[in-house]
Amino acid sequence: MMLNRNYIFFAVLAFIILMMLAAIPLGGAKLPESLVCVAAIGAAGWLARRLFIEGKMLFARIASLENDHRKYVEKTSQSVKDAKDLKLQLQILKRQKRNTEAIIYSISDAVIVTDASDKLVMANEPAGNLLGFKVEQSVLKPIDGLIQNEELINLIKTSRGSKVRHVRHELQFNTGEDQLTYDGIISSIYDDDGQVCGTVSVLHNITREKEISQMKNDFVSHVSHELKTPLASITAYSEMLVDGEANDEKTRREFYSVIQNQAQRLNRLIEDILNISRIESGLIKVNKEAVSTALIIRDAVQMIKSYAAEKNIEVEDRTSVVFDQVNADKDMISQVVINLLSNAVKYTPENGKITVNSEVDESKCVVRVAVTDTGVGIPPEELPNVFEKFYRVKANTKFAKGTGLGLNLVKQIVENIHGGQVFVTSEVGKGSCFSLELPLLTEEKTVAR
Ligand code: ADP
Repeated sequence: MMLNRNYIFFAVLAFIILMMLAAIPLGGAKLPESLVCVAAIGAAGWLARRLFIEGKMLFARIASLENDHRKYVEKTSQSVKDAKDLKLQLQILKRQKRNTEAIIYSISDAVIVTDASDKLVMANEPAGNLLGFKVEQSVLKPIDGLIQNEELINLIKTSRGSKVRHVRHELQFNTGEDQLTYDGIISSIYDDDGQVCGTVSVLHNITREKEISQMKNDFVSHVSHELKTPLASITAYSEMLVDGEANDEKTRREFYSVIQNQAQRLNRLIEDILNISRIESGLIKVNKEAVSTALIIRDAVQMIKSYAAEKNIEVEDRTSVVFDQVNADKDMISQVVINLLSNAVKYTPENGKITVNSEVDESKCVVRVAVTDTGVGIPPEELPNVFEKFYRVKANTKFAKGTGLGLNLVKQIVENIHGGQVFVTSEVGKGSCFSLELPLLTEEKTVAR
């Protein structure tokens, strides 16, 4: 461009000099006009050509620049569009990530995600609580120093190292006093090349299921054992009768009596087992109504008195009819009181005393019933177990026959069906006190009924 400008400058200068020469006389003589004219036209022509060439080059340059500019604009707008698309995709990915995290964090099972080098990528709070680490401070840390369970660490590493898609394993965790059982599923995560790039572990708490299944197994084995004993007696004595081993009437009567007792025991056992299983499965029909505990106790005491009289045991009813109504199934609560009274008679030696008390505790809004005896008592270490199914205090088995189900039935009826509570205190050789609390039916509720 600079060169072109110089050409123009010199062409214009030459033209001006020629014009001046034409105008200035040389020693009185002027240049011939035709010469000046030719020179001027020549210079003007040259200038015009130069200008034409320069102009053409300039237009070409401008066109090229315009073209570049258009391309640049096109390119820039494409980049802006690409940037917008990228931003949108980024937002979608972020949202998907947030959704995935929200799902994982809301799961009540423990979830742990690890990468290809066994570092923690993600974990939810239940995982942190179970495995003993703070989730926010543990991301990208190796699981070895993080997870307090060697078995789980080995499972994650084995799962990542192997081609197996899922590994399922039962894991035990100790949290303070409790031993918890978890069902662990460790799944491998594969990348686009089919390589394992991490793992997802989901740990589901199955402690309760395990306990229930253990209880069911124990129950079945207990039941079959308990049923076998009376059945064996019945079979043996009836066989002896059939074989003519009871020669005299007295022996025969003895055998009949054994068979009758064992059959009754079998009956009681089956009745108790059925009642308990009906309550536990929720299949029992409960007819709740406003009933007075004092009246239920009065009937039960009347019923037990003749049985107690056989052992010369005094039964004192200290209940008074106040407003002691509860919303309860009358038959079931009667069964509870009878069970407690018959136990008191069974485990109290002759000439003992049984007292039944009932009081209304307004502050706790409960009716409290207590059956106290002067019986053999229960050793303190066995007290927590007496409400368990089939539990019988060894030292007391010689005093009475039983199934070990009566107190469990009491507990189930009071606590599971009526929302109450059972208690026991006892002293060996002095006696026991079994008590229960039932929610008092408030007067507003009675009016509303
Ligand atoms: P059982 O049919 O054996 O009486 P229960 O479930 O009613 O079964 O009672 C469980 C155990 O608790 C009994 O075997 C007995 O050893 C003990 N027990 C219950 N009530 C009394 C009591 N009043 N005095 C002493 N021991 C009792």
